[in-house]
Parts: sequence; structure tokens; C-alpha cells
Amino acid sequence: MATLKRNESATFAAGQPPSCIAGFKHRLLPLMESDFEGSAKFSLACQCGADAFAILSHPLIAPDPSPYYLVEPGEVMFRPPHRLRCASCGVITPVFDAKTQGYDGVLNGGCSYESGDQGEQAAAGAFRITVWFFYNVGLDELEEYAAEASVSPSDLFDSFGLTGEPVGEGDPFEVNYECA
Ligand SMILES: [Zn+2]
Repeated sequence: MATLKRNESATFAAGQPPSCIAGFKHRLLPLMESDFEGSAKFSLACQCGADAFAILSHPLIAPDPSPYYLVEPGEVMFRPPHRLRCASCGVITPVFDAKTQGYDGVLNGGCSYESGDQGEQAAAGAFRITVWFFYNVGLDELEEYAAEASVSPSDLFDSFGLTGEPVGEGDPFEVNYECA
């Protein structure tokens, strides 16, 4: 059986998670056989203790023909930034902004994804949320860049994903971003 061990950068992030999730209560999930060694995964809960959220995005229906890679005409793109609204107390907490977070967000003024700035909407349903951060760059290098940018090395993740498992009926929600 494979030894499940995080790489050095992901180990750091497991202990000192990215600032993206600072507004939440978070719990580190164990590394699974199917996970990359560079990943640190967390489940999120609201400060009130509840763990069901509405997922807020800036949806856009892709036009025909679709100018977006791997997005069919008529398909809904749940554009960032993403915020989560607690289904219990209603508090809204930011979770990911592609323009300012992750490796390119912090160091290069944003990654290549289109963000939305108006028309924020909740995806249908309530969800239990898991987020993952992926690190490919060595910790020494991350520490150097992080010091220059005055952030934590864990803020310089290469990719980010958010999955929502529906509470009750509904479809799962998933977004993934390459951030470097
Ligand atoms: Zn709450």
C-alpha cells in the first residue's frame, strides 16, 4: 500500500491554512489514496457551528458559439469570486477570489479566469463544503516569494477547488481553478 504523505509545501498548508478560509471553522481532512501529495483539503463550517451553506458565484450562460475552453453554449459558468452564505445564521463569508488569491492572484495580478463583479447568485440548494489547495512548488521557494509579498507561503497555492455536497436533494457543485 502506498505511503500517504504530503509534500513539504502541502504539509505546511495543512498546519497553517491559506487566508482564504480564515473566516471559517475548518477541519483538515486526511490524505486519501486518490489525493496528490501536494494537496491539503479542508471541510468548512460557519463560525456559528453550522456546516450547510449556499454557494454564491457570478453565473454566466456561455453564448453560442462559446468562446470558452471546454464550455458548451448554454452551459452555466459559476464565475468567481465565491462566497458562502451560512444556511443557519445567514452570515456571508468570502472563500475564493481568482483576482487576488492563489499564486498568480498574489504574485501576478490574477489568474486567467473571468471573474464577475455583479449579479451574484446562489446555486440552488444548500451544501456541505470541502475545499482543497494544491502545491507543486517547493517550500523554500514559496517562503521566498511569500516574504516578498507579505503573505503566508500557503497563500501561494497552484490550484484550488471547491466542492459542495448537497444537503438532501440536488446536484453536487464543483469548481476548480489553476492558479499558477
Ligand atoms: Zn452560521
